[in-house]
Amino acid sequence: MIISLKNTEEGQAVTVNAIETFDVPESYGLTENAVSCDVRATIVKRGDGYDMKGTIAARVFLLCARCLRETVFDILAEIDERLITAAGEDIDDDVIYVKNEVIDIKPALKAALLLNIPMKTLCGDDCKGLCEKCGFNLNDGAHGDCEKEIDPRLAKLSQIQKEV
Ligand SMILES: [Zn+2]
Ligand SMILES: [Zn+2]
Repeated sequence: MIISLKNTEEGQAVTVNAIETFDVPESYGLTENAVSCDVRATIVKRGDGYDMKGTIAARVFLLCARCLRETVFDILAEIDERLITAAGEDIDDDVIYVKNEVIDIKPALKAALLLNIPMKTLCGDDCKGLCEKCGFNLNDGAHGDCEKEIDPRLAKLSQIQKEV
């Protein structure tokens, strides 16, 4: 997502309105690894650099940490970055450098997106989870007394759920 800042004068803004797709590592637990985001930002020239402010919005799908049902989560991440004009080498990884009045804002946007993906999410505050014995989704209605033996794999899962 290359943005040209050429010929921008002090105080002048460059507006970014775009739909951009980001690849999210599997470790974030999304059910789809490509996330389409609505990016809205303004980049204003100030002094020796630029101020980038805006939002990145996306709808992602995760598995509920208790019942493993697919769950929608809406992300609205704030972008607030200082972009520094640099001629030579990048000195600091935490600083975003603008070279030749051109910048790729995608890495900064991706960082903001990843930061706002929840580690754990629930399908609802009242999620009842799964039966510890048979794995029945207790949100699906009456279950009664469960007579089944504990499946060792589910026992492990229920252990994980207790830690959530
Ligand atoms: Zn749930
Ligand atoms: Zn059961």
